Amino acid sequence: MPDAARRCRYCDEPLPPQFGPAARYCCRAHRQRAYEAERAKDVDSLRRQVVKLRRALAIYERILEDIADDPACAPRVEDVLTRHITALHRARRAAAAARGE
Ligand SMILES: [Zn+2]
Repeated sequence: MPDAARRCRYCDEPLPPQFGPAARYCCRAHRQRAYEAERAKDVDSLRRQVVKLRRALAIYERILEDIADDPACAPRVEDVLTRHITALHRARRAAAAARGE
């Protein structure tokens, strides 16, 4: 009776009774297709995130350009950018060193 609920996670066909308890797919091809479908979902999600981040970055760039165009603000903007770029560079060098590069 418990075998009645065992179905391929890709095509939903019943799994052959001789398959072990760890079996999830009726064949290698369906295991591979399920894997590819999961990867495709990941890629779609990442593409949507990249689009959102590009939009946000464009907005921040325009804000930064507007601020930097103000002569009174330019030195402060350069100071902040210098500090952040230096911190980013140091973090990347530390990460590379931790990886043994
Ligand atoms: Zn299947």
